[in-house]
Amino acid sequence: MRALRRPISWRVTYDAYEATETTPEKGLVLFSGGQDSTTCLAWALARFAAVETIGFDYGQRHRIELDCRTAVLERLRREFPQWDCKLADDHIVDLGVLGQVSDTALTRETAISLTQSGLPNNSGYPDCRDDTLKALQATLSLGMDHRFVIHTPLMWRDKRATWELAQRLGGPALVELVREETHSCYRGDRVHLHSWGYGCGDCPACGLRRAGWEAFSASTPSAQAGAD
Ligand SMILES: [Zn+2]
Repeated sequence: MRALRRPISWRVTYDAYEATETTPEKGLVLFSGGQDSTTCLAWALARFAAVETIGFDYGQRHRIELDCRTAVLERLRREFPQWDCKLADDHIVDLGVLGQVSDTALTRETAISLTQSGLPNNSGYPDCRDDTLKALQATLSLGMDHRFVIHTPLMWRDKRATWELAQRLGGPALVELVREETHSCYRGDRVHLHSWGYGCGDCPACGLRRAGWEAFSASTPSAQAGAD
């Protein structure tokens, strides 16, 4: 085994704070076009000197997710010139093979049942848990012989807190962008516009998004005004 040239930090920063100053580092954001990754992208743009985005075409049931990515990026560039100059290349990786070897609600018309917590039982998302990401960060750093830090600004935030973070990062304009351009609905509904955004209104993803919005907007007058 090769000796490491530099010490490696095992720290995963799930820091719950918005950026206070820009660092000279570059960031890469896993960007799906949804509420969470759009908020993470804004968080990264406020923090890093340059930010690239990457998305995966894994044979999604609804192409709308990929369309939303483009719309979000265009509107971010247009409405946030301070971030436009930092927003670097966007990458789409073809993972079509995933749809051939998996059978999930992401790629198939698969029934979604709920746990007692109200979350879809396919969304405990063990691959997104803190322990998993700590291990992944260590693996990446060892395998690439370079110190990578995986930031997870939403790790301890619920949907209400995610709306609040968007408000703090980009004010009502960013909240409106997230509300109108991002996609959550499992059914791919971009026809019905609600106060919390587009969606069918009764799938688990819409339910979580709506509940978070209602909690957020109840304490945020500008959100109520913007959604009227
Ligand atoms: Zn829905």
